[in-house]
Amino acid sequence: MNDYLCKKIEMAKISINLKEGTVKKQSDIIIGIDLGTTNSLVAYIKEGNPVAVKGKNNKNTLVPSIIHFGKENQIIVGESAKEMLVQEPEKTIYSVKRLMGKSFNDLAQFQNYFGYQVIDEDEEKLVKIKVAHKYFTPIELSAEILKELKLRIEEELNAEVFKAVITVPAYFNDTQRQATRDAGKLAGLNVLRIVNEPTAASLAYGIGKEMDEVVAVYDLGGGTFDISILEIKDGIFEVLSTNGDTFLGGDDFDRAIIDFWIKKSSLIEENLIDNKEFNQKIRLEAERAKKYLSNHKQFSTTINNIDFSITQEEFNTIIDPIIQSTITICEKALKDANLEKKQIDKIIMVGGSTRSSRVKEKVTQFFEKEVYDKLNPDEVVALGAAIQADILAGNQKDILLLDITPLSLGIETIGGLMDVIIPRNSKVPSRAGRNYTTSIDGQTNLKVSIFQGERDLVENNRKLGEFILKGIPPMPAGIPKIEIHFIIDADGILKVKAAETRSGVEQEIEIRSQYGLSEEEMALMLLESIKNAESDMNKRALLEAKVEAKNIILAANKFLKQNQSILNKEEIQQTQILTLQLKAVVEGNSKDDINEAMRQLNEYTHPLAHKAMDATIAQAMKGKKI
Ligand code: AMP
Repeated sequence: MNDYLCKKIEMAKISINLKEGTVKKQSDIIIGIDLGTTNSLVAYIKEGNPVAVKGKNNKNTLVPSIIHFGKENQIIVGESAKEMLVQEPEKTIYSVKRLMGKSFNDLAQFQNYFGYQVIDEDEEKLVKIKVAHKYFTPIELSAEILKELKLRIEEELNAEVFKAVITVPAYFNDTQRQATRDAGKLAGLNVLRIVNEPTAASLAYGIGKEMDEVVAVYDLGGGTFDISILEIKDGIFEVLSTNGDTFLGGDDFDRAIIDFWIKKSSLIEENLIDNKEFNQKIRLEAERAKKYLSNHKQFSTTINNIDFSITQEEFNTIIDPIIQSTITICEKALKDANLEKKQIDKIIMVGGSTRSSRVKEKVTQFFEKEVYDKLNPDEVVALGAAIQADILAGNQKDILLLDITPLSLGIETIGGLMDVIIPRNSKVPSRAGRNYTTSIDGQTNLKVSIFQGERDLVENNRKLGEFILKGIPPMPAGIPKIEIHFIIDADGILKVKAAETRSGVEQEIEIRSQYGLSEEEMALMLLESIKNAESDMNKRALLEAKVEAKNIILAANKFLKQNQSILNKEEIQQTQILTLQLKAVVEGNSKDDINEAMRQLNEYTHPLAHKAMDATIAQAMKGKKI
């Protein structure tokens, strides 16, 4: 049996492209993608370890997040597109991540930042980018970057991939997250999960596996700075606070060096400062100087026959104010998280600019703790995404609890009520069960309808699926014992099992519950549940009263039928009147009237039930000796 199973799993899937006449293997690997503002990269688990994938030339794991539209709108992504940035800025798109899920108004103040045309179309709420008379959404452009990454890993694996985990900044809102998901879809990827970048970075360092801790993720890239404070408890990552500056990063270090050189050199003539070529050269040399000074004491170069130099000490002095502004932002993030800096257990360095030794020094000084910087700060997020992907694939059994259920999961009970089995915000994986029974005598089938949502009535929630538990042996209502179990595994897949325990009849269904809803839809559903909480509660109470009343009416009729010989005429008549009264109010909408009618009927029939019971016992005892 096991042998057979193994063989079945090993068999590779094959896809045939009829148009191209090619045959390709398909891989079940879930890839991890860091879709960055400046650079993007893809990683996967190779022989148990996360690795970032290098391109064909085997040089660099980073793919510049730059898209160039060449002749006949041929699309080029990455390093070759970057080279076109100076030559054809209007046809070369960079920083598209800054546009994800944004409206034109959101960007009004940054218009000058983009070298290409960002436009607003009346009928569209979100921005578009105009390139060579065509309009593109940021989603379409991001999809081009993702396609390039997909291609890169497919070349490495020699197989097609379809499943991915993509990271986003912790502060991304639902629209931005949905836009990222859609970009993945457009690139032919099933995005199994959107993961916060700081969470991925922590995972890459194996944080949160063994103990609960509070982590600060300091992410200084080329053009952006983010600080996130995370609390990891029982394997669940919760973002306590985030802060940052979307226009602060390593580029500011380069600019500081250029300013320093221009101020210091008397040889730069006025006309040179406006020279495009000189500007480009000095910018590249400044960046080279910055990188060199991360582990050397002095840097010298010559540009247009002019000598420039800078020492590490001078560099540190000019970038200190920039680093200080990141520290001020860290202080704010700590305050928002209600934490003192001594309560931070670990500090993780992310982003290329954290390679500057001064940055590490200042951050260590501020938090009074050594920082985590052993992993490549450019790759750490993608490596974490690959680990998350591997967890989703079920390959890492030691890390399990990584997510929570965003909405409650439950089943429909009589009256269209939602009976929650796994409440919202439960840890994944999760397992819960409850017992039910039938409501009609001799009932042999039971419909199990599964819903997701916070509202009391299932009609306001989202239906995930249903099945029928068939073959329950006929028994009086209330006798069958039906256990319904909800099991969510680490992949976020929900399995619902129903079993009638007396007869052993069983049935189950599998639902991919987590991925069916966009985060935006989830947020809307939550909002609706809060808005309607009071009216939902009243409706639920009314429905519950109606269900109970109907059961009492059935029971009263049964009681009258079975005990005609025991009850006197008046007792029968009065029971019938009270039952009819209850029947009448059940059709109405007053929960109080129903409850009152139920109370009267119960009160009246209670002593009659005793009388009937005594008579039955007396009958049974007749002729028997004790
Ligand atoms: P990222 O946006 O995370 O890809 O970071 C890119 C930034 O990191 C750019 O400003 C680079 O100049 C900077 N960077 C890359 N390598 C180094 C280095 N060795 N020292 C300092 N900064 C670096």
